[in-house]
Amino acid sequence: MNAEIIAVGTELLMGQIANTNGQFLSQELARLGVNVYFQTVVGDNESRMRQSLELARSRADLIICTGGLGPTQDDLTKDVLAAYLGRGLIMHEPSLRYMTEFFESRGVVMVDSNKRQAHMLEGSDPLPNDTGLAVGIALTQDGTHYMLLPGPPKEMKPMFLNYGVQWLRGVMKDEVPLVSRMLKFAGIGESLLEDRLLDLIRGQTDPTIAPYAKEGEVAVRLTTRAASEREGLAAIAPVEAEIRRRVGEFIFAERDVPLETIVLELLKTSGRTLAVAESCSGGQLSDMLTAIPGSSQTFLGGVVCYSNALKNKLIGVPLDVLEGEGAPGAVSAQAAGLLAEGVRDRTGADFGLSITGVAGPDPSEGKPVGLVFVGLAERGKAAETFELKLSGNRETIKLRASKSALTKLWQ
Ligand code: ATP
Ligand code: MG
Repeated sequence: MNAEIIAVGTELLMGQIANTNGQFLSQELARLGVNVYFQTVVGDNESRMRQSLELARSRADLIICTGGLGPTQDDLTKDVLAAYLGRGLIMHEPSLRYMTEFFESRGVVMVDSNKRQAHMLEGSDPLPNDTGLAVGIALTQDGTHYMLLPGPPKEMKPMFLNYGVQWLRGVMKDEVPLVSRMLKFAGIGESLLEDRLLDLIRGQTDPTIAPYAKEGEVAVRLTTRAASEREGLAAIAPVEAEIRRRVGEFIFAERDVPLETIVLELLKTSGRTLAVAESCSGGQLSDMLTAIPGSSQTFLGGVVCYSNALKNKLIGVPLDVLEGEGAPGAVSAQAAGLLAEGVRDRTGADFGLSITGVAGPDPSEGKPVGLVFVGLAERGKAAETFELKLSGNRETIKLRASKSALTKLWQ
């Protein structure tokens, strides 16, 4: 099934409000396995709304409109759809009763225009509104499904989640469900990954192969339709095997978990502990690790040693490594190695991991933005160091530096 979302409202077109309804519905529809091919925004104008409906009907199986279900003269959505589909408007009595009581209890007179909010199209199914007055509707005509939802997100979301989804499941029950598998990668960038899989991605029919990058990590989702999970996974298996053959060494998980979860699991299995010394990442690595429940079993803690003085005082990195004429500097392999060994030895951890670099926006020590060194020191061994050249703004560089440091530990 493929869908088009039509957001109705002149204030959307004027840029006065953002179309968060479109974003919400797209995410929820993806979850249900419905492809959203188009999102349209149209003003509160009868003829342009009708044009939007016509276009949407020519290219979508499901059309979801939000907005324009209210009582005022510019709220036209139900009237336009009714005219377009050649159906009359009828009163949804339960909504009308609720509305009457609502107004009575507040001692407010209900005017006729309010009653429009209880209107339904003939032969449509009502979608109750638990957080407002306008009833939503859903119906199918000539093989196209239509759903009208209110504009205010606080009404639209519960209506869709509590009633719309169920209605959709009903009309989709003849469709074969989606089965998907997620592969998560570390140590390879999105572009390189895509490049290695390009012919597979281009030639994909079933399963579909969708690579994407999010929060400093890269993932590939393989999706097919199958009657059962087992059948689906069997159809995915040969494609997955080919992906593994090409880039298998970069796969850290076959489920949607962050790298830190896997790193902590590995540490736990091997009964080892970790401590970190962070400079340019400013505690982000520690934050990531402590976000995982149970991390205290293996993650001892860390030091944010941002200044050279603290790198020296707390971790014992000699000042003449960090600064002065001819010194390697705080952003150097030497400093990263000493930070990793220092934090390991001072905490008694099995592994010390360090990050030092230039997060930007300005260069530091004459070194370019994005230059980062990671140090990894295992108990009883000298530290290994890694030079990274990261791109992005300050926030992204901090995130990528933290993920890259974890990648070194995982690898
Ligand atoms: P009402 O009964 O409030 O008039 P309605 O169903 O007629 O509701 P609209 O009049 O189109 O909806 O919009 C009402 C309010 O809902 C807007 O002022 C805006 O705050 C919010 N809204 C409408 N459409 C969207 C959208 N696509 N994304 C986010 N917010 C929206
Ligand atoms: Mg309105």
